[in-house]
Amino acid sequence: MPLVMVIGETHLLEPHIYCDHCGDDIDDARHAHCLWDWIDDDARAETRLWFVHKDCDHLFTIGYEKRHKRHVQWRPLNDYLFQLVHNTHTDMDATRARLTDNDPE
Ligand SMILES: [Zn+2]
Repeated sequence: MPLVMVIGETHLLEPHIYCDHCGDDIDDARHAHCLWDWIDDDARAETRLWFVHKDCDHLFTIGYEKRHKRHVQWRPLNDYLFQLVHNTHTDMDATRARLTDNDPE
C-alpha cells in the first residue's frame, strides 16, 4: 500500500499513491483501482489493501491469486476515496479552503 508523502509543486508535503504493480504515480483516480484481500471474514479484521492502475490490475491480480490461492476484490479508486471521505465525515469545502489558504489550522 504505497501511500507516501512527497514534496509537491507547491514545495509542501502532500500525499501521493504509487501503483503496487508498476510503481508509477497514480495521478488520476479515474484510471485506478483499489484492491483488497480479506484476511478474515470479520469485517474489522486487518485487510490487505493495494492501489493499481487499471492497466496493471490484471497482471497484479493474476500474480497475487496464483501465489496466495485467494481472490482479490476491487473497487474503482474514485469510489473508494469518495466512501473514505464520507465515512470519515470530511468536510471537503472547509478542507479545500484551508489547504488553498495554506492555513496549518
Ligand atoms: Zn501501474
